[in-house]
Amino acid sequence: MIFRSLLRRCPRCGDRHAWFQTWFKQGDRCLACGLQRTRNTEGQELGSMTIALVVNICWLVAASGIAIGLTVPDVPVLTLFVVLATAEVLVAVLTWPITHTVWMAIDLRVRPMGFAEIDEAAAWLNSLAP
Ligand SMILES: [Zn+2]
Repeated sequence: MIFRSLLRRCPRCGDRHAWFQTWFKQGDRCLACGLQRTRNTEGQELGSMTIALVVNICWLVAASGIAIGLTVPDVPVLTLFVVLATAEVLVAVLTWPITHTVWMAIDLRVRPMGFAEIDEAAAWLNSLAP
């Protein structure tokens, strides 16, 4: 499930769209398996926000350390700031949906779907059928 989620796929079924309608817009459910994005839980987004925060801080600290280590004693502070700030924005945008799928994979591992949730997903999928 983690491997699937790292590819921005649904951790449950592996569908490549998961519940995303666009890179930023999320639907309520995976159109392939019916997995509900929020799983009827308040604060479901907090897990993905935490993953995004940790990834971005770790990446920024590592990149800053490498850049400073390579340029000591003449550290180009302004250049480093501009380059790292730009890269940080790009990393945040590119990893945003992946943090959601990874968090869902972790959530599914910790709280596997129960029979009621599986039945609800199947009923939702059946309601889509013509
Ligand atoms: Zn799915």
